[in-house]
This record gives sequence, C-alpha cells and structure tokens, in this order.
Amino acid sequence: MPEEKSENILYGIPGSPGVSHGAAFRFLHGDVEVPHYQVGESEQVSEIERFKDALLTTREQIAEIRKAVSKNLGEKEAGIFDAHLLVLEDKALISDIEKDIKQTGDNIEQCVYRVTNRYHDYFNQLEDEYLRERASDLKDISKRLLGNLVGETASGTAFLGEPRILVSEDLSPSDTASLDRSKILGIATDTGGRTSHAVIMARASGVPAVVGLRGLTEKLTEGDSILIDGFEGLAIINPTNTTLFRYGKVGLRRKKINDLLKNEALLPAQTKDGVTLNFLANADSPDEVRSGIENGCKGVGLFRTESIFLKKNQIPSEDQQFEDYREIVSAASGKPTTIRTLDLGGDKILDSIGREKEENPFMGFRAIRYCLRNPSIFLDQLRAILRVSSFGKVKIMFPMISGVGEIVRAKEFLFTAKRQLTEKNITFDKDIEVGCMIETPSAVTICDMLADEVDFFSVGTNDLVQYLLAVDRINNQISYLYEPHHPAVIRALMHIFEVSKQKEVGVTLCGEIAGDPHFLPLLIGLGLDTFSATGTLLPELKFFGRRFTSEDARTLKDRILKMRKPSEIKVYLKNFYDDRVSELMN
Ligand code: PEP
Ligand code: MG
Repeated sequence: MPEEKSENILYGIPGSPGVSHGAAFRFLHGDVEVPHYQVGESEQVSEIERFKDALLTTREQIAEIRKAVSKNLGEKEAGIFDAHLLVLEDKALISDIEKDIKQTGDNIEQCVYRVTNRYHDYFNQLEDEYLRERASDLKDISKRLLGNLVGETASGTAFLGEPRILVSEDLSPSDTASLDRSKILGIATDTGGRTSHAVIMARASGVPAVVGLRGLTEKLTEGDSILIDGFEGLAIINPTNTTLFRYGKVGLRRKKINDLLKNEALLPAQTKDGVTLNFLANADSPDEVRSGIENGCKGVGLFRTESIFLKKNQIPSEDQQFEDYREIVSAASGKPTTIRTLDLGGDKILDSIGREKEENPFMGFRAIRYCLRNPSIFLDQLRAILRVSSFGKVKIMFPMISGVGEIVRAKEFLFTAKRQLTEKNITFDKDIEVGCMIETPSAVTICDMLADEVDFFSVGTNDLVQYLLAVDRINNQISYLYEPHHPAVIRALMHIFEVSKQKEVGVTLCGEIAGDPHFLPLLIGLGLDTFSATGTLLPELKFFGRRFTSEDARTLKDRILKMRKPSEIKVYLKNFYDDRVSELMN
C-alpha cells in the first residue's frame, strides 16, 4: 500500500479570500540557469536533435498560450504570440545556433543563450520601434526555449491540463498577467505581502491566495496536493480527510454569507442614519469594471493603466491604448471612470523596456517620474485618455506625486496633449477633471499646496503605509511592520481629509484598506465618504455600512485616536465589526 503523505501546515499572510484545494503546480519564472560544458564532435548531432525537440515543444506551448490568450483577452492580445512563433521559425537564427555549436563545441543551451542574446542586443539598439520590440520577443522565447532544454517548466500556465494550485517563490505582476485564470485554483507563494500587485490582481479576479509562506516551495515534493485558506492565511500540504471535511464546512458557510450579501448588494449605500456612502471600483480590466458594476459601484475610482502594458509586455501605441480605454469606459456603462496614468516601476516591471535594475525600485524610477522623463510615452497615453473622454465621463489621475513641481509638469504635458488633439480637430472633454494620488509622505505634508493644482485627491494607502513607516510593501521579512492601523497612518489620513474639506477638493481612498470592512467606520469617522475597492468586496462594505450610524463612526474614531498601538486599534476595529455583523457569523 502506498505510504500516506503526512499533513504539513504553514502559516503566511492572507492574500485573497477563499479556500481551494488541488494538485500543486510549481511555477518557475525568471531566468533559467544556463549550464556550460563542452560536447564532443560525435555528440553535436544529438545536441542539435535536442534543440529541434525543444523548438517543437516551445512552438506547441506558445500555440496553446495563444489560444488561451485569444479566449481570455481577445484576438488582438493573442497576436503578440504570432511574433513569438515567427522567431521560432526564423531560419537565420536557427542556423546561427547550429553553426555556433560546431564552431565552439559548447553544449546547446550555451549556444542558444549566446546567439539569442546577440540577436537581442542587435534589435535592442535599433531606432525602429517595431524592430526594437522584437528584442523583447527574443528574450521571452529564449527563456522558454532554455527552460525546455534544461527540463524546467517555463512561465505560463495555458498548457496545464487540470486546474491546479500555483506555487511559486514569488510572483510578479507580469507573471500574474500572463496566467490563464481558468487553470488556476489558487496561488501560494514563499514571499510577498498583502499589497503586492500580484496579490491585488489575484483578489480582483477572485482567486484565493496566500503569500509569505516561507519555505513552502522547498517543502513541496512532486505529486503533493495543497489546500490554501486565503481567509486565515495558511497552506496545508497534503491535507488529511478530516481537514478537507472541516474546510468543506467553511466553504458552505461562506456560500451562505455570499448569498446574504448578494441580496443586499443593490440596496442604497448609506450608513444606518442615512448618510450617503459612495463605493467605486478599482479595476485592471474590462471584466473587473463589469464586476464592479454588477456589485453596485457608482463608477471606477482607479483604473490601473499599467495592467494593459504588463499584459501585452510592451508599450502600446496611442491607438491601441485608445481602444483599450474605450473598452473600459464602455464597460463602466456611463458611470465616471478615473484613469490613472502609467505607474510602472516598483514591483511592476516591464521586461521589454530593458530598464536598469534598481537597488530600491519602490523608491526609484517609478510612475510619474518615469513618465516625465519619457515624453513621447507620456503624451501618447495622455492623448489616448483624452480621446476616450468624449465617450463617457473620464477623469485623469497622476500617481506617486511627491512635490508641486511634478503635478505642474504633468499638467503641462496634459496641456500639450490637448493642444495636439485640437490641432487635429479631435474631440475630447476640455474640462476633464485632474487628480493626483496622495501616496507619499511629502504629498501628505503639502496636500494643501497640491489641492491648489487639482480637482481631486485619491489616497493610495498601499504605498503611503510603506513610505510612511519605511516598510517595503512586498518584503515579507518585515511584513509584521506593514501596519495600516499605525497611528501615524491614521493621523496622516485625518490630515488629508481635513485639508480636502477646507480646500474643497474631492477625496477618494483607493488603497486596499478601502476594501477592508474593518476600516470602514474609522474612515467614515475621519470624514471620508468615497471608497474605491475591488468590485467583489463592495457588497460586504455596503452590508456593514448599513449597520452603524455616522455618530457611531465618530465615537469610534475618537476612541481610536487615543490609542497608541496598531494591534490595539486592529482588535478594536475587528470587535466593532464582529459585533455589528453577528448575523453574518451565525
Ligand atoms: C496605492 O498605492 O494605494 C494604490 C492604490 O496604488 P498601487 O497599489 O497601484 O500602487
Ligand atoms: Mg500606489
């Protein structure tokens, strides 16, 4: 009888709610280690055979991925993979690799690596944008080809048969963007924090996730099954039948709660004493906008445009962006849509633009800093956003502003983009509202000055918490210090809300705490009434909002402002929530 594998429980950080169980799939990404050794002349033929087999496997994988992308994202996005297939059929490249093995006597992996790098470097320095893009295709292809040669599964999941639980050391936003969601039951990673972008994306697509499960990938062996609990933040390798039974019951209870919440989702959003609350949706795709609308949002509070860049793994043209944004605006069905300009950098890296690696990427060449130094990319984007403003109510928002100079320069670019469109008689909303994210400590401190430059603020607590507390949001060594409940954060929020009231600029909060019901009464007590969160979280926020008065919220805020410890604040908010929604718990 085969020996039963023993259960092993690991504790991490809840990433995205939900429980799922299935076979584990080790997701490998990043660079493959390339072996280097000499092969004798007689072995060269078999090395070339290995290369041909790997070419074939790679083509099959890409064709599968293309099919899945076409199904999930559309034919246009799938077109990217045609270029990949062409590279794999490029006679000059293939013959150069074969020549290289004959000349150097090196193993085939080394030859593939060397020759594709040479081609990459050549394309990368060309003026022609189209040809430069081929450099990034080459990089992707060579990674996949090398992965197949050394027997590793290269990134991508479209070729998986059964849906599985994806297990990885870490996961980048571009990895997440490339996943076929229908093949993913859940995500479990060794590293990462609650506000890493891969986790935000998992949450938005309703895929359960647990992160910060240190040592998970080392403990996993071939054929293991894994259960992940995205509510509690734990993973159970090879769960016993008793555990599975217990979790079956959790699933049933959760379904009961979801049914109850669904019934209330379309009721007006307000507190028990009738104060209006505005719930907007955060979105990375048209589907997420539609999910927000189905869950009763009043508009899109944050559309992260970089999601489009990451999915395509390239910088799209103005026209391509225009089509994508128009889809977003049309999915919003006439409701206002706030489009945020490009926020690349930090953990959102676009391989294809070949930027230098940074020591501190979150403090580095990110978001507005990148756009201000890349005028043509910035202007393409601004024109595309302006053009969609004649198809619905659109607002524009600039990320990671840290000083008045940046917002002034960003607005100058916007002015230029408007002028360029006017010269071509292209219509747009001339009075488009302009806002900025408040997500750096300096922006908090000078928000009265920024208020003179914009129509609205959107508070990005995901970044604000990391910068204010000096705690990298994706470093799980210090994730215990990433505390949105910290009094410094609460005081900063109080300051922003007070200033926006005095200066009469609108204010929204679009960081992840906007979707965390525990924070709702505190934020209302501090004076906020507009929240932007993942669509699927809105029903619970509305449900809870109707169960306390604005007076309750102010009393709670006064109590919290006297507290010194984040843990005390956290417990207080949780108890308040549990008390008011006890009907959900029974
Ligand atoms: C934030 O920082 O809170 C935010 C909403 O932006 P992002 O998560 O995309 O950095
Ligand atoms: Mg941010």
